[in-house]
Amino acid sequence: KKTIDILGVPFLHTTRQAFIETLQRHVEQKSKTFVVTANPEIVMHSLQDEQYRGILQQADYITADGIGVVKAASIIGDPLPERVSGYDIMLDLLQVADRQRYSVYFLGAAEEVLQATVAKVREEYPNVKIAGHQNGFFDRQDPGVAEAIKESGADLVFVALGFPRQEQWIGKYLPLFDKGVFIGVGGSFDVFSG
Ligand code: UDP
Repeated sequence: KKTIDILGVPFLHTTRQAFIETLQRHVEQKSKTFVVTANPEIVMHSLQDEQYRGILQQADYITADGIGVVKAASIIGDPLPERVSGYDIMLDLLQVADRQRYSVYFLGAAEEVLQATVAKVREEYPNVKIAGHQNGFFDRQDPGVAEAIKESGADLVFVALGFPRQEQWIGKYLPLFDKGVFIGVGGSFDVFSG
């Protein structure tokens, strides 16, 4: 796993295509995986928030979300191939999930946005198994949602709570799970459904 360190954050050297293949392998092997797609805002936040820095250390992969990170890598002299954003990963994984009949759990966003997201997935990726969905306005201290997701057996869990909530939520409940690829996708449900 080749990474480049930018202000203490280890970014994965990967193309979008290669990264999707990596995640597909994790699903096939049922190995629990935590993905953070980090933009400059996340890098800056990690500098001033020790707890958040600890959460990033729990991540299996941190990808470059945004051209700012890609440019920084070039300046350091260790260029990253391209940006790999949460939205791009979500779209690619939905395609893979449709092909391989993976089950997907959708966590986050406002209820209408979530409903529209699930409806569009049913329409455009009909072979995706919807493991379940829960809007992003619940008590994040309550483990009930994580327990329900575990019970659902989801292969992929898209967490659209926004930064830094999504990474905090995944970091907190990851130990509960035995499998699943977890990825914080920010405002992706809003974009996807809008
Ligand atoms: N969101 C959520 N729960 C919250 C706060 C936000 O599910 O408690 C959702 C929000 O509806 C949106 C996404 O998180 O779909 C991203 O929100 P925001 O734009 O505030 O975060 P950012 O884009 O800065 O990560």
